[in-house]
Amino acid sequence: AVQILDERTAPEKLRDISTLILDCDGVLWRGSEIIHNAPEALRVWRREGKRLLFVTNNSSKSRAEYAAKFRGLGLEVTPEEIVSSSYCAAAYLTSVGFGAGGSRAGQKVLLLGWSGVEQELQTAGIPFIGGRDFPLPPMDNIDAMAALEVDPAIGAVVVGWDPSFSYSRIVYASICLRELPGCDLLVATNTDCADHMGGGRMMPGTGGLVRAVEVAAGVQAVNVAKGGDWLLPYLCRTYGLDPARTAIIGDRLDTDIFLGRQGGLFTCLPLTGVTTLERLGRLPVSELPDLVVPSVAQLAGLSGP
Ligand code: PLP
Ligand code: CA
Repeated sequence: AVQILDERTAPEKLRDISTLILDCDGVLWRGSEIIHNAPEALRVWRREGKRLLFVTNNSSKSRAEYAAKFRGLGLEVTPEEIVSSSYCAAAYLTSVGFGAGGSRAGQKVLLLGWSGVEQELQTAGIPFIGGRDFPLPPMDNIDAMAALEVDPAIGAVVVGWDPSFSYSRIVYASICLRELPGCDLLVATNTDCADHMGGGRMMPGTGGLVRAVEVAAGVQAVNVAKGGDWLLPYLCRTYGLDPARTAIIGDRLDTDIFLGRQGGLFTCLPLTGVTTLERLGRLPVSELPDLVVPSVAQLAGLSGP
């Protein structure tokens, strides 16, 4: 049986941990609802001198927009502590030469995504087309497709959460990736299959959108979020993490716990998110998180769900 530690026994497990990487949805909140005592848990850890990093696969918001959401829910945070997948996409592109001063400074990004990634590309000085305002003709016949001209300066396609995702956008992206010699990168803000939207309902995640472009263009995306290979080394470099003293607290096995296991971090799963006790019960012992707790509140020694 899976062992669940509670508010009396769990906090001790974090004694030697100096940095906590916290997932957001399913850990601090669910949709727009704060998890009881999550703000107080963060205060407890700050008082203990632990460094906190908030790492979310959600690309719909920028760091600044996230900071506002945190504050609105009573969570104290600075934008520099937030690593959203929108920010990761811009940081990855900068690392491979996009933006002023880089080796690919003359190139643009095609964005199939929303305001979060738009803002982060702007902040990073990376020129882009697409995003929210990207009107395209319907691609409902061969002539329309043959007539479509794509911007030859595009060097990468970024796919994030995009509520205006369409066949026309897939056409544009796949033409860039298949036909432009300088366009050799498909970047996924994350590949989550589905996420909570409240009311017990799941909404389609960005993974399906990424897969549509991958299949159409015949290329594999670089996933810059939890679940991919790029993020953990980036976090270690940027924040000087010591894996032996770093824990990840997240509700998803294929993203949060995966990232922790990649780097030998202490892994901790609260049962307030997408992973059920039944699911954990079916896992081989070797794949279980190091610690299962009812909630972040209890992990910090407080009463909570
Ligand atoms: N992407 C989208 C569009 C989401 O709505 C969510 C959660 O609500 C996520 C990703 C997953 O975010 P997190 O990594 O904070 O669980
Ligand atoms: Ca989560």
